[in-house]
Amino acid sequence: MSSSQTAQAAVVREIGKPWVIEEVEIAAPRADEILVRMAGTGICHTDTSCKDGHFPVALPIVLGHEGAGVVEAVGSEVSRVRVGDHVVLSFDSCGHCRNCKAHHPSYCFDFYPRNVSGTRLDGSHTLSGAGGELKAAFFSQSSFATLALAREANTVVIDKDLPLEIMGPLGCGIQTGAGAAINALRLKQGDSLAVFGGGAVGLSALLGARAVDAGTVIVVEPNAGRRALALELGASHVIDPKASEDVLGQIRALCGGVNYALDTTGIPGVIAVAVEALLPDGMCGLLGVPPPEATVPANMMSMLVRGVGVKYIVEGDADPQEFIPRMAAWYRAGKFPFDRLIRKFPFAQINEAAQASLRGEVVKPVLVF
Ligand SMILES: [Zn+2]
Ligand SMILES: [Zn+2]
Repeated sequence: MSSSQTAQAAVVREIGKPWVIEEVEIAAPRADEILVRMAGTGICHTDTSCKDGHFPVALPIVLGHEGAGVVEAVGSEVSRVRVGDHVVLSFDSCGHCRNCKAHHPSYCFDFYPRNVSGTRLDGSHTLSGAGGELKAAFFSQSSFATLALAREANTVVIDKDLPLEIMGPLGCGIQTGAGAAINALRLKQGDSLAVFGGGAVGLSALLGARAVDAGTVIVVEPNAGRRALALELGASHVIDPKASEDVLGQIRALCGGVNYALDTTGIPGVIAVAVEALLPDGMCGLLGVPPPEATVPANMMSMLVRGVGVKYIVEGDADPQEFIPRMAAWYRAGKFPFDRLIRKFPFAQINEAAQASLRGEVVKPVLVF
């Protein structure tokens, strides 16, 4: 495989405008790269944030970072992945910095240049279209396209009997929520957890908590349909923050407080409640995108007397090569029904799918090819 190929890709040329599906040229895989024919790709909140200008990226760009597909070609240095393998694509990491060596690749010192710069690490482009080069290599994949170029580090081989079309979100959103509960907070059997925000990430945290037999899990979410789904997926209690003046009081009334909290909203007033709801030695994990000027809204004396902490968690502190197969095994065993969060849309309906998610009608849209 030494020449470029034609593919269809959803391109963002202007902030805030709909995706437009265009014909593009994708480079042949280099020695350390893998060409994947997409079967399905999730839409993550980060994709929509980038398209709408809440997270700065260079344009024009092809986004998409929850891809799953079949390997079509591999470079000469690729050893672990073979043509025909079914793969889930995740975030990229260097493999040799301090945190990568310690199996915490989501805190790779090279995370941003490798995942959101829009080019390969050396500045070269992987896609071109009408009018020249396109920014791509988003999370070393740019999976809003029929073909994607990935690296071995972010390519995870999965079993062929799994439903490939819907497996992509294990690479970001579902890993982010479940991993935050399991890898970062180290939730154990019987531990209590409050999840603020019942979207794809928050409900994945709930699924993760149930997979490790956590105790009380409370989901705080204004959307009635999502609260109902949370109860079906095993939440002990749900709270509608729009109907309650005192969410903190409600949590204390239910269980006295929680060992752990996860915020997926990024809203400072919500995070303040999450920190106050913690029992002694508790930890609040932050996953949501905050307003640019926000500072952590916690009373330090109140934190001191309980010995509680606050931490931002990236990509569920997951090592995708280990955690994605673990989630897949739980799914197969019926302990991790992440498919309940998903609705499929044809690739051509990318804009409708993203809108349905923003309106709260769909938890996790997946585009199928
Ligand atoms: Zn690294
Ligand atoms: Zn994501």
